[in-house]
Amino acid sequence: MRYFGVIGDPIAHSLSPAIHAFLFDHFGIEARYERFHLRSPDLLRSKLLSLHGANITLPHKGKAFEVCDEVRGIAEEIEAVNTIECMDDRLIGWNTDAFGFWECVRGLGAKTALILGAGGSAKAIATILCKQGIKVSLFNRSNRDCEFFAQRDVCMHEGVLEGSYDLLIHSTSVGLDGRSLPLEEERLSSLLARCKHVFDVIYPSRQIASIEDFKRFLSHRPPTALLAFAQRGMDGLEMLLYQALFAFEIFSQGKGLFEESRALFYNARL
Ligand code: NDP
Repeated sequence: MRYFGVIGDPIAHSLSPAIHAFLFDHFGIEARYERFHLRSPDLLRSKLLSLHGANITLPHKGKAFEVCDEVRGIAEEIEAVNTIECMDDRLIGWNTDAFGFWECVRGLGAKTALILGAGGSAKAIATILCKQGIKVSLFNRSNRDCEFFAQRDVCMHEGVLEGSYDLLIHSTSVGLDGRSLPLEEERLSSLLARCKHVFDVIYPSRQIASIEDFKRFLSHRPPTALLAFAQRGMDGLEMLLYQALFAFEIFSQGKGLFEESRALFYNARL
């Protein structure tokens, strides 16, 4: 038996156990996947060493980056880790959030993007967009981590949000209450009128009782506050699903199950 889990604070709302338990079961891998509520980041490394692998969520992604023995792929550039493999008492860290996001927007053909927010998700999104050759601009209410973004040639806006963009990405935590918007209505309307596509990292939350329930939610879910205001766009639920499918690739030791896993969630026949 192999042991996995998702570690965060809070953690009760996490959909990761439902997704991973379903995948382990479907592919006949003997494994358990649980939620772990961890308040103190000081205990992160010892918790991780007790597992075969884990997903890390708020607020521990930065700490997870620090406690790894080795960081692979894009996680090194993002300076945050959301997926960990434990091999021979060594922690190997990855970031699958960036690929989860990219999987959602890659078909849009965007050449320019504006990100609202400068937290962990904004860093993952800005990094992958820059790597894809997309011109990235960013606006945040404070100048938090502006050095990180400046080093990646992200154009920082202060106050005035000028210009037109192929893709607007909302990556602040505003809207988790289902009502609040990241900008005042007038400013937001003006910005939306200048953006072709809209992506919101927020997704509507609901208790998920089974994987069938999750699939129903994927095909019919209410819009987030921002998407209701914009009357269009994509929310972050598929980003969440795809980051989990990429993490499962790592947990299942590279068996190449991504496409088959994706199809399972969309009821496709293979
Ligand atoms: P962080 O805490 O790292 O960053 C939060 C960001 O929101 C900061 O830029 C912060 O600004 C800004 N912010 C917070 N409150 C306000 C406010 N009242 N007005 C304007 N800006 C505000 O969080 P993450 O980036 O990790 O996550 C952001 C959201 O994305 C969360 O809701 C999370 O659940 C979601 N998420 C979704 C994923 C998915 O798969 N769909 C994956 C990862 C995250 P400041 O810097 O000034 O404090």
